[in-house]
Amino acid sequence: MSEQTKKFDVIVIGGGHAGADAAHAAARMGADTLLLTHKIETVGAMSCNPAIGGLGKGHMVREIDALDGLMGRAIDRGGIQFRMLNASKGAAVRGPRAQADRKLYLRAVQDILAEMDNLSIVAAEADDIAFDAGGQITGVMATNGQFFHAAAVVLTTGTFLRGLIHIGETKIPAGRVGEAPALGLSTTLERLSLPLGRLKTGTPARLDGRTINWSGLEEQPGDFPPPPFSYLTDKITTPQVPCHITYTTARTHDIIRANLHRAPMYSGQIESVGPRYCPSIEDKVVRFADKDRHQIFLEPEGLDDPTIYPNGISTSLPETVQQELIASIPGLENAKIIRPGYAIEYDYVDPRALTASLETKVQPGLFLAGQINGTTGYEEAAAQGLIAGVNAALFAAACGGAGVSRETFVLDRADAYIGVMIDDLISRGVTEPYRMFTSRAEYRLRLRADNADRRLTGLGIAIGCVGSKRDQAFSDKMASLEQAQIWMESTRATPVDLARRGFKINQDGQRRSLIDLLRYPDITWDQMADQWPEMKNIPPAVAEQIEIDARYAGYNDRQEADVVAFRKDEALSLPINLDYDQIGSLSNEVRLRLKAAQPVTLGQAARLQGVTPAAVLALLRYVKRAS
Ligand code: FAD
Repeated sequence: MSEQTKKFDVIVIGGGHAGADAAHAAARMGADTLLLTHKIETVGAMSCNPAIGGLGKGHMVREIDALDGLMGRAIDRGGIQFRMLNASKGAAVRGPRAQADRKLYLRAVQDILAEMDNLSIVAAEADDIAFDAGGQITGVMATNGQFFHAAAVVLTTGTFLRGLIHIGETKIPAGRVGEAPALGLSTTLERLSLPLGRLKTGTPARLDGRTINWSGLEEQPGDFPPPPFSYLTDKITTPQVPCHITYTTARTHDIIRANLHRAPMYSGQIESVGPRYCPSIEDKVVRFADKDRHQIFLEPEGLDDPTIYPNGISTSLPETVQQELIASIPGLENAKIIRPGYAIEYDYVDPRALTASLETKVQPGLFLAGQINGTTGYEEAAAQGLIAGVNAALFAAACGGAGVSRETFVLDRADAYIGVMIDDLISRGVTEPYRMFTSRAEYRLRLRADNADRRLTGLGIAIGCVGSKRDQAFSDKMASLEQAQIWMESTRATPVDLARRGFKINQDGQRRSLIDLLRYPDITWDQMADQWPEMKNIPPAVAEQIEIDARYAGYNDRQEADVVAFRKDEALSLPINLDYDQIGSLSNEVRLRLKAAQPVTLGQAARLQGVTPAAVLALLRYVKRAS
């Protein structure tokens, strides 16, 4: 049967990072899925920096992986420099990061998608979504006239919706460099009364590494052995390469200041807001005027590719100015620009128009994920893609049987960084492109990168998005963990015995377990394993969990109490169409905010901007009285 006559369950529009993980997730759920994207060869393409992970972002990649998503496995195949950021700090703030070989990463994404049953990929530009007389989605219309049938649609159009590139005074309609923008779908979204806005992001020039003077530049190697992202990867086998570091100079800053009037951000040519935490070099020079230099990471784009990504100098200044400012940087005096940097403006949808399953409130069966929701970054996109893909599959499955009540798959702020991100987006909206930081999470000790599988894989198995290979690997790991914990808890020694083995312990007569010993900051796993050789047989991933659990036990107990209180508020559902005018003690401002956001739980109401503790109490009293 051809893709056009077939009735799919789910159509994912867009083969970027949100789209790849959305399509993979929907197919894992058993939904017949179509990935409809401009070009098959750009599925999984990295529009900007060739890297995955970092603080907060790396945590999310582990979470995606724990739910059997593809990003972690793809970067393990395509990564050419792996590092655990903050390795010397506490486990809660350690974040895995990897430099990617662009081509290897893209190939890995495409290979993983190709391995999926139930998944077809078609190259076409989606132009419109079609509905039946009852307002249900029936499919997607492409610009070439093809029609594809499906009950649910996931839109992941990235920076392509009415995309407009700026390089100095030049403007080029484009989704990213060399690719046309998508126009029709913005009209579809407007027709559905979804609130649209404009955001911008930018990218630096790409340099020819053969023209860089590497001598004298600081080298930054990766970790050895490279720490993988995926719980299913035993070992990284791709060759590893270093990055290098250089800095802007006073001359660079002078050049930028002298040309600010030609920067679209400052000339008024761009009015939309860019990511504050990932500013352009012109922004940095203006905002941090007292800093005499800014760090630049020179990142290789591939093993067999001389292209270098100068991370830290994203710019939309005219190309001649870019050339001048790059030549003012040590090591880059003669560097050849392969492609100039640019800024891009695009349409996004105010994510307050979405539910926690990433379905639009106005149109059942329409899900949005990725940059279209006001976020920036591959990891943020993939994480949303996974949630939207699972929920689109659940939607399609429920449509199959009339009157079936619909299950949704939603993560909360205590489950995952993914839950934090989605709750932030749907409760507060965005004023600038949203990216993840560890500081956004309240329960950081719980939401660690190392324990994402223990937090999420069970939930994934229950909903049906985890395949049998991961299910088995997870069950084996949990069994091994339980066995090791029981053994270490039951293996005890007296203070006299411990002293004899070289451990400095208070001679109070109390027997201590091996788990108790791990809580002493100056006792290491290796010292203990020298005394109890059975510990050497515990798999490293299991040992890591036992050690972190033991060392954080006291803090974890306290955080669990906070989580119980948080979940109590989350469990208090607010009625749909609650009449806020009936709650007399609310101020007009708070009432307007609540009416606009229509929070679904008391907890969500409390997190809305401007909603005071007094207003939350009034809401609680009203709902309790009414129930
Ligand atoms: P994308 O990766 O953009 O993928 C969108 C996909 O949808 C593409 O495959 C496209 O072909 C397809 N598509 C779009 N419309 C249609 C249609 N109508 N029909 C069919 N297919 C369609 N992130 C950072 O973290 N830091 C940065 O500094 C940064 N800078 C960036 C600079 C630039 C210039 C760009 C373009 C992006 C930048 N990003 C940055 C963002 C990063 O690339 C995105 O956040 C990420 O790629 C978003 O993933 P996505 O899946 O939402 O969209």
